Amino acid sequence: MPVQVLLSVHSRHVANYCRLLKDELASHSIETDIHIETDTPALIDYIIYSPDGPIHDFTPFTQLKAILSLWAGVETLVRNQTVPCPIVRMVESGMQEGMTEWVTGHVLRHHLGLDEVLDGQDGVWRQRQLMPPLARDRCVAVMGLGALGSPCALSLRTLNFNVIGWSRTAKEMAGIECRHGQDGLYSTVADAEIIVLLLPHTSATENIVNSDLLARFRQNSVLINSGRGALIDDKALLAALDSGHLKHATLDVFREEPLPLDHPFWNHHAVTVSPHIAADTRAQSAMSMIGENINRGERGRTFLNLVDRTLGY
Ligand code: NAP
Repeated sequence: MPVQVLLSVHSRHVANYCRLLKDELASHSIETDIHIETDTPALIDYIIYSPDGPIHDFTPFTQLKAILSLWAGVETLVRNQTVPCPIVRMVESGMQEGMTEWVTGHVLRHHLGLDEVLDGQDGVWRQRQLMPPLARDRCVAVMGLGALGSPCALSLRTLNFNVIGWSRTAKEMAGIECRHGQDGLYSTVADAEIIVLLLPHTSATENIVNSDLLARFRQNSVLINSGRGALIDDKALLAALDSGHLKHATLDVFREEPLPLDHPFWNHHAVTVSPHIAADTRAQSAMSMIGENINRGERGRTFLNLVDRTLGY
């Protein structure tokens, strides 16, 4: 019997994903039926899932071999008590490139003081005040050295920034000072002038940027969050910005999305609101990864990018 795949994704993606996935699975010589809905859930082998798709209750899918997430962040799936099978998260080159470009761009914005230049079109020649330092004299921290944090850290290193990376387990990366654990966390935020959050949202990382940690940040430092909104205690961040301890926060992700109109971030002079655009899943490379994982599943091999449900990522 052909492999039964159910696409539970937003309707705008269905036609494109179907076409790309068919080609991808054909290249692995896997005979497949691709469904966008089903009356026989017990026959489905794989669900391709995104949180904005129709399926959230997996109870009827009794024979699932894996849920293949189109998103890198899997906090919703990990907490879903009806998930009966392994969860595979999305790691794909398009998303990695997108995140690297977005993070590098926003770090350069703050490093070069681009806002001050753009705001200074008033006839005053501020050469001395606005001359930027070199990247080699700037310390940037990347918190989370996974599929997305690692290429960001390497890109910043290539530009000659002093890069500190922080992760749960100890790591070695050429040219990057890797730290881990609680001591590593405190020293990282104390040393860096620009801090990039690329951690997953888990029980261990929720509110990790709270008033205690913010007090340990360097005076005048900048926070860039493209991980998840729940990493930050919003009130504590606003207090740190209001007091001038932090210079700016560039936020791409929020506890509630879209960010509510009355949220103080929208009108805060030291906050940039970015509407969750740092790194989209790119259809071609994502379907290639999903094809590879279905191929692995069908041949009894270990899935790539399997989620550890105990750790939550
Ligand atoms: P990943 O490969 O799973 O990497 C996660 C990193 O975080 C790893 O280095 C991990 O440490 C570290 N980590 C996890 N828990 C930690 C803890 N308690 N303390 C210290 N470090 C911890 O994830 P990814 O693919 O890089 O994605 C990261 C996040 O980016 C996703 O979870 C998602 O929320 C977010 N994201 C955002 C967008 C966007 O458009 N804004 C797009 C895609 C993804 P170890 O290496 O030691 O395991």
